[in-house]
Amino acid sequence: MEIETTIIGAGLIGLAVAAEISEESEDVFVLEKNPKFGQETSSRNSEVIHAGIYYPPNSLKAKLCVEGNQRLYELCQAHQIPHRKCGKLIVATNDEEAAQLDSILTQARANGVDDIQPISRKQINQLEPAVKAVAALYSPSTGIIDTHRLMAYLESKAKNNGANLVYKTQVERVSRCDGGAYAVHIVNPDGQRFSYTTRYLINCGGLEADHIAAALGIDIVANQYEQHFWKGEYFSVRGKAHVVNRLVYPVPLPNNVGLGVHATIDLNGQIRLGPNAKYLPERNYDYTVDQAEQKAFFESAHRFLPFIQYEDLSPAMAGIRPKLQRPGDAVRDFIIHEESDKGFPGVVNLVGMESPGLTSCIAIARYVKRLLTN
Ligand SMILES: Cc1cc2nc3c(=O)[nH]c(=O)nc-3n(C[C@H](O)[C@H](O)[C@H](O)COP(=O)(O)OP(=O)(O)OC[C@H]3O[C@@H](n4cnc5c(N)ncnc54)[C@H](O)[C@@H]3O)c2cc1C
Repeated sequence: MEIETTIIGAGLIGLAVAAEISEESEDVFVLEKNPKFGQETSSRNSEVIHAGIYYPPNSLKAKLCVEGNQRLYELCQAHQIPHRKCGKLIVATNDEEAAQLDSILTQARANGVDDIQPISRKQINQLEPAVKAVAALYSPSTGIIDTHRLMAYLESKAKNNGANLVYKTQVERVSRCDGGAYAVHIVNPDGQRFSYTTRYLINCGGLEADHIAAALGIDIVANQYEQHFWKGEYFSVRGKAHVVNRLVYPVPLPNNVGLGVHATIDLNGQIRLGPNAKYLPERNYDYTVDQAEQKAFFESAHRFLPFIQYEDLSPAMAGIRPKLQRPGDAVRDFIIHEESDKGFPGVVNLVGMESPGLTSCIAIARYVKRLLTN
C-alpha cells in the first residue's frame, strides 16, 4: 500500500497540519500512539494565545506567532471555538524591572505587535485594581482559548476533508525506500506490526520528534535536533475567581527558559499560576507537581498579586516543553525543515515545538504546506 501523506502525531500541530493538507489531498493518514488526540503537551499548557512579544525578530517563533495569533482569532470566531481576547499586562514591581519594559516594547514592535503599549500606574489601577505594579505594558491582543475545542474542530475538519486519523498506533521506525518514498513501520494496540509506504512524511511527534527524525537516519546531534525536556508546573488559586480579568506576567527572568511564574485565567475566570521551568536531565514523562514548589510560586506571584494567600494555592498540573536548549544555552528557534538537503525529500521535521506552538498552529500548518509545494 502506498499513500500520499503521513503525519505522525495528533497534537495541536499534527491536527492543524492534517486539516490544512487534507484541503487538497484526501490521501492523508495521521498516526497517533494514544487513544485520542492531544493527550500530551497540547493538553498541558497555559492555553494562552500569545501576541508574539518576546521572540527574536525574524525568528520563526516571532513570525508564526504574530500570524498565528490573528488566524487563530479568525478561526475561533468563524467556528464558535471558545476563546477570549482578554489582554495581558507585563508588570514591573520596582524601578529595575520597569527599566526592562522598554526593551520588551521595542522587541514586540519589531515583531509586528503593533497594539502593545506602556501604561501608567493609574491605568494599571483602572484595568486591574488588585495588581501591584509601578509600571506595565499592556498587550490587548493576548487571549485565552479552549484548546480541547480547537483540537476537536481541527480533527473534524481533517476528517471531513477525507483524512484518516488512526489512534492507538505507534510509529516504531521510518526508513527510506527506493524511488523517493518512505516505509512507515507501525504497531497497533494488539501488538501487530506492519508497514506501508508514503510519499510525504510530516513529523509532528512533539516530545518524540527528535527520536523519530533519528530513526529515519538524520544525525540529530550534528544537526542540533536533540530535544531537552523542561517541565512546567502549575498551581491553582482557590477562591479568587475574577479578581483579575487579564493575564498578568512579571518581567521575564533573564534565563531564556520561561516567562516567570505568571497568572493565567481560564474561560471561567479561575486563576492559575505557572508554569515554572525545570530541566529534566533524565528526559522522563513525569507529570506530578512537586508540592514543595508552593512557597516559590507564592513568593513569586505575591509580589504583584498581593491578594493571593499561601493557603490559596494547590498543585494543579504539569506539562513538558521539548526545548532545543540545555540550561545556560541561548534561546533556540522552532525547527520546521523540509529535509531534501539531507537526502530526505518530502520529509518535514518539526522539532523543538514549545511555546508559542499553540498560538502558531494554524500558521505552522500553512508554512508546512508551503515547504512541500515549493
Ligand atoms: C507548560 C507549557 C505551557 C505552554 N503554554 C503555551 C501557551 O500558553 N501558548 C502557546 O502558544 N503554546 C504553549 N505551549 C506550547 C504548546 O503547548 C505546544 O507547542 C504544542 O502543544 C505542541 O503541539 P504538538 O502537536 O507539537 O505536540 P504534542 O501535543 O506533544 O503532540 C505530539 C503527538 O505525537 C504523538 N507521538 C509521538 N511519538 C509518536 C509515535 N512514535 N507514533 C505515534 N504518535 C506519536 C504523541 O502521542 C502526541 O500526541 C506550552 C507548552 C508547555 C509545555
